[in-house]
Amino acid sequence: MKLSDHCFDLKIGDDGLYIHLALFYYEDHLILVDTGYAGQLPQIQEAIEYEGFSLQDLKTIILTHQDHDHIGNAKALRQKTGAKICCFEAEAPYINGTLIPEKIAALANRPHLSSVEEERLAMLKETYEEIKVPVDELLQDGQVIEGLKVIATPGHTAGHICLYHPSEQILVAGDALGAANKKLTGPNPVYTADKPLAYQSLAKLLDYPIEIVITAHGGIVKGDIHPQLQALINASLAAGTLGH
Ligand SMILES: [Zn+2]
Repeated sequence: MKLSDHCFDLKIGDDGLYIHLALFYYEDHLILVDTGYAGQLPQIQEAIEYEGFSLQDLKTIILTHQDHDHIGNAKALRQKTGAKICCFEAEAPYINGTLIPEKIAALANRPHLSSVEEERLAMLKETYEEIKVPVDELLQDGQVIEGLKVIATPGHTAGHICLYHPSEQILVAGDALGAANKKLTGPNPVYTADKPLAYQSLAKLLDYPIEIVITAHGGIVKGDIHPQLQALINASLAAGTLGH
């Protein structure tokens, strides 16, 4: 069985913003990559049912990284379906509550916070307490999990991964790449912890033939993927971002 589309869009508020998740069918079950913001579970269920499946067909959830907009419903889905949670080994402590997530720590470590930032920090901490989730399986670079190859792409966060589907040549990029006007963009500079490392990670993706990229915040990009990747890497080199 094949899904009509591996990418589905979860609406965020009323501002026309979406987050894009990826769904794959493997043997007799579904694999979901990333889970959106907390509270979006009904939208996930709707998308899965639209494809002709039920939530109970979900057996595996792979998280590309620790950020709230990616792990938001992992705990709720695990409780509801028994699906196992998988992520890169270096990312697990930030997802299961052992370490403070990078973006919360970065904000908390700033010498001075405005009242708006204080509020944001408190909200992030409170949400994290609700959504942190045990990780059932630790993934390693190069491992193939249920038909998807794990590619370690640190930079956006320390343990960010992309997933690659070889037969359909689909790359699920998480936040390693963005997209605008159906073209790839580099990782969002505001939210990417280590930009030089993030661009070094992009160079790794050139090893794979890619037809389709699913980005979490820009949706699908098709065609000319390698030239686009190379152009982003070259621009970063020219700007000195990819220095050693
Ligand atoms: Zn994100």
